[in-house]
Amino acid sequence: MREIVLCISGPSGVGKGTIVKELVRRDPSLALSVSCTTRSPRAGEKNGEEYFFVTREQFEEGIARGAFIEYDEHFGNLYGTPREYVRRQQSAHRSVILEIDVEGALRVKRGEENVVTVFLAPPSAEALMQRLRGRGADTEEQLKLRRARVEYELSRAAEYDHIVVNDDLDVAIGEVAAIIEHEKNKE
Ligand code: 5GP
Repeated sequence: MREIVLCISGPSGVGKGTIVKELVRRDPSLALSVSCTTRSPRAGEKNGEEYFFVTREQFEEGIARGAFIEYDEHFGNLYGTPREYVRRQQSAHRSVILEIDVEGALRVKRGEENVVTVFLAPPSAEALMQRLRGRGADTEEQLKLRRARVEYELSRAAEYDHIVVNDDLDVAIGEVAAIIEHEKNKE
């Protein structure tokens, strides 16, 4: 039995957040890492829940101290995985879930031990776009950009250890839970 670091990626809107929250709720031995970011909280976001919201100075000071396992800049804001949180969970023999983008997941895989990567895919790019369109939160222009991003992310799926298709939420949660069990029992 080993503890793993599970990196879970997938296009925006595919249901990553729902799945990881449910996994952690069902299995208290799993810990969900909360990243640091310099972006401002969106309506309803709470410090320490979605992210730890910090200033750019604080983040840069963290980089200098080696406080992040990996970090990256998206849309002008910095995002990073806190090293101390992950280490603390590992010391307590808990597996950690990181909900992270494609580049971040592959960087963690290169830099850490016992990393397992899971790509969460929609049944099709079309199905995901229909869902995003249905939310009505984006303009046609934004939807076009999202479509390009979805296509790009799907093109990287083969670099992951496992691919799970989120067609039925309960089935997808069960599949990720089974992957975690299987990987923890590997030597
Ligand atoms: P958002 O601002 O929409 O929450 O996230 C923007 C992007 O930052 C998403 O692609 C998300 O996956 C990525 N992101 C969130 N946390 C981290 C992190 O700790 N490291 C890296 N590399 N990317 C992150």
